[in-house]
Amino acid sequence: MSESASLACSECRVQIDLGKAVKDLSRVRYFHSGDSDKKRNPDNGLISAVLWKFLAEHGYHGVRVYSDYDAKYDDEVAGYEEIGGDGIGEVSLRDYVANWSGWSLG
Ligand SMILES: [Zn+2]
Repeated sequence: MSESASLACSECRVQIDLGKAVKDLSRVRYFHSGDSDKKRNPDNGLISAVLWKFLAEHGYHGVRVYSDYDAKYDDEVAGYEEIGGDGIGEVSLRDYVANWSGWSLG
C-alpha cells in the first residue's frame, strides 16, 4: 500500500487529504491526489486554493502533515472532519473555497 498524508489541525480537528506521498528514496518529492494521469496538486488551482485557505484559517493553530503510517494518524487524525471528504456534514473542496475572498477564481 502506498503512503498517503493529510494536513491537519488538531485544535479544530479538521484535515485535508494531501494524497499519495510520491517519494525519491525516503524523501517526499510531492503529494498527488487521484489517478496518476490527473494534474499534480500544485497545478490544480482548486487544491491550491483549499490549501491556502486552510493555512489562513488554521496555520496559527499549529498545523502538521501526518502520514497514514504514523501511529497518531489512525488513533486520531483519521477521525477528524475532512475538507473534501464524503462523510455526513463534510464540505466539498469547491464549497470550502466558494465565495472565499482569497481566491480570485472562485
Ligand atoms: Zn484550527
